[in-house]
Amino acid sequence: MPIIPAPLTLLEDGTPYSAAFSDMYHCAAGGFAQAQHVFLTGNQLPARWAGQTIFSIVETGFGAGVNFLATWAAWRDDPARCTRLHFVSIEKHPFTREDLHVLHQRFASARLAPLTHHLCAAWPILTPGLHRLEFEAGRVILTLALGDIQDLLPQLWLRADAFYLDGFAPAKNPDMWRASIFKALARLATPNATLATYTTAGVVRHGLIAAGFEVNKAQGFGMKREMLIGRFTPRWRVRRHEPPTAYAASERHALVIGAGFAGCALAERLAARGWHVSLIEQGKTCAAGASGNPVSVFHPFMTRDDNAAARASRAGFLYALRRWQVLAPIDTFFWRAQGLLQIAANQSALDAMGATLSHLAYPTELVSSVTRAEASALAGLELAQGGWYFPHGGWLDPASLCQAQLIAAGAALTPYFQRKINQLVYRENLWHALDETGRSIVAAPVAILANANDATRLAGLHYAQTHSIRGQLSVLPTPVRLHIPITGSGYLVPLTSTSLLAGASYEPDDPNPMPSVESHQHNLSQLAQLAPTLADRFDPNTLAGYVAFRCAAHDRMPFIGAIADEHAAQPLNSQLRDAPRAPGLFGAFAYGSRGLIWATLGAELIASQLDGEPMPIERSLVQALDPARFLLRALRQQN
Ligand code: SAM
Repeated sequence: MPIIPAPLTLLEDGTPYSAAFSDMYHCAAGGFAQAQHVFLTGNQLPARWAGQTIFSIVETGFGAGVNFLATWAAWRDDPARCTRLHFVSIEKHPFTREDLHVLHQRFASARLAPLTHHLCAAWPILTPGLHRLEFEAGRVILTLALGDIQDLLPQLWLRADAFYLDGFAPAKNPDMWRASIFKALARLATPNATLATYTTAGVVRHGLIAAGFEVNKAQGFGMKREMLIGRFTPRWRVRRHEPPTAYAASERHALVIGAGFAGCALAERLAARGWHVSLIEQGKTCAAGASGNPVSVFHPFMTRDDNAAARASRAGFLYALRRWQVLAPIDTFFWRAQGLLQIAANQSALDAMGATLSHLAYPTELVSSVTRAEASALAGLELAQGGWYFPHGGWLDPASLCQAQLIAAGAALTPYFQRKINQLVYRENLWHALDETGRSIVAAPVAILANANDATRLAGLHYAQTHSIRGQLSVLPTPVRLHIPITGSGYLVPLTSTSLLAGASYEPDDPNPMPSVESHQHNLSQLAQLAPTLADRFDPNTLAGYVAFRCAAHDRMPFIGAIADEHAAQPLNSQLRDAPRAPGLFGAFAYGSRGLIWATLGAELIASQLDGEPMPIERSLVQALDPARFLLRALRQQN
C-alpha cells in the first residue's frame, strides 16, 4: 500500500487538525505542554532512563513529531540521560517534509529550533516500512515505521521500556485501540515497562489490563480531567517469546572476518557503539575481493508485489544513503548519488515497468518512469528504451567507501591485513581465528563472518550454502561523457574522463580469475541492448577488464544475523526464533551483486542484535535474511 501523506490543516489557533479523523493532533492548550505532562511525566521520564545504556520508547502515531521532539529535548537537557535513546513510532499518514517544516515553524524556540531543523533535514522519502534516522551522533535514534499500525506493530522487533499511546480519540479512531494492538504492545514490553495516554476510555483500560498491563488514572492535561498511566506487570503468561536482549559478551570485542563492503560497514557500525573490532583480511588492503571493482552502482530493487527482497533492498538503499552522508566529509570518499537509470529490455518490459510503478505509487523522490527521450537526455547518451529513474541512485568507488568506514571506526579498530584464517574455533567462551599453522591470530567473544565465499566453510555450515559467480567488467576506452549510470541488461558506468565501465558477466562456478574475450563479448552484447550506438565501437579482443567473484545464496537473499548451531537443532523447531544459535557467531555474507545495498543495513542489523536494540527493519525482513532460514526449512521437512 502506498503511503498517503496527511494534508496539513490548521485550526484558527494554529493547532494541527485531521479532517479524516475529525480530531486534533494535540490539545489546544499546547502540544509540548501536553507531551511533557502526559507522555514524559506519565512515563516518569527522564528519571526512568537515568544511567541506562539503551532506553526504548514506542509511540503509536508520530503525527507532527511533537512528542518525539519534547522527548529528545528532555534527553538533551538531562545530565543523567541514557547512552542511546531509541524512539520507535508508527505512522500511517506522515506529513510531507514541507508540511512538517511549516508545522515546526510554530515552535521555533531556541531550545527546539535545532531539533526541528535536524528532523526535517533527515525526514525520509515516504515509502512503506521502517526508516532509521540518527541524531546526536547516533545517540538519539528515531525509527519511523510508515504504514498501518495493524500491519506494523507485529513487525516491530524490540524491547520497549515505555509506550506513548497517541492515536487520536478511541471513539474517532478505534483502529489504534484494538485488543490486538494491546496484545502486540505486550509482546514488546520489558518487565515494568510504563505507558501513558490522554484517554481513559473503557475500551483502552480493559484492553490494556487484558494484555497484562496494570493501569491507573492520573490527573489529565488541559480540558481533560484524567489520563491513564500504566505498567507491564502480567499476572499470567501473555507471550511465547521474550523480547530481544543484548548478547552477554564478556567484553565488547568482535572479530570481523573480511574487509570488503560487509566487514568495513560492520567495523564502522560496531565502533560507533563502543565495540572494539579486530578486522582480519587476507588481502593487503580493504576492498580487495568482490568489493574491489573500480566502481559500483546502487539503487533499490523493485517488484510489483513489493516482496521481501524489494522491501529489504529499499530499506538497505535508503539507510546506506543516510550513513554515507555522515561519511561524506571524509574527502577521500568518492560517491555520486545524482541519479541512475534502469532501462527496459523491450517495449513490453517497459509497459510492465510503467504498470508496476503506477501500482506502487512511490514518490518521485524515490523513482519515476521516464521515456526513451527523457532517459537519453538524463544519461547524455542515446538509449534503446525508457524505464525507471532513481534520482538518489548512483555510483561510488568501493575502496574509498571501505576506507572511509575504517577511518570513521578510528581507534576502536585493529586491522590484521594479509592474515588468512584457516579455522575458527570456540574455546573457553572465545572465538579464536587460527592461521595455517594453527596459531591464534586474535580471539574475541563475538565473531562475524563477512568473508563471502569462505564464510560457510569457516563456520562449518551445511544449511547456509553459497556459490561463487564470476563477474567480469569491461573497460571501454571512449571520450563519451555518461552523466549517470545505466542498468538494465548489464550496466554502464562512468569511469574516467576517457573511459566507461560495462558489466557484468554472470558466470556461476567459473573460477577463471583472468579477463576473457568471451566475457567482453557478452558485456558488449548486453550493452547493445542499453545503448546500441555505443556498443559496436569496441573490439572485445582489445579491451581491458576486471574480474571479481560474487557470493550468493540459493534464494538470492543475503545471510545476515546470528549463525545457527546446526548440531543442536532439533526437527521439532517450528520458528526461526527457536533455532539454536552458535554463541556470539554472526554472518554477513552472500551479498551477490548488491553488496552496496546490503552492507550498511546488514551491519546496523547485526549491531542492533548484539546490543539488544530495536531492529532497523521489519521482523519478516529480519527472518528473510536470517542465516538459519534454510536449516529451518530442512527441519520442517524432516518433521
Ligand atoms: N504523537 C503525535 C505528535 O506528537 O505530534 C500526534 C499523533 S496524532 C494524535 C495521531 C496520529 O495517528 C496521526 O498522525 C494519525 O495519522 C496516526 N494514525 C491514525 N490511524 C493510524 C493507523 N491505523 N496506523 C498508524 N497511524 C495512524
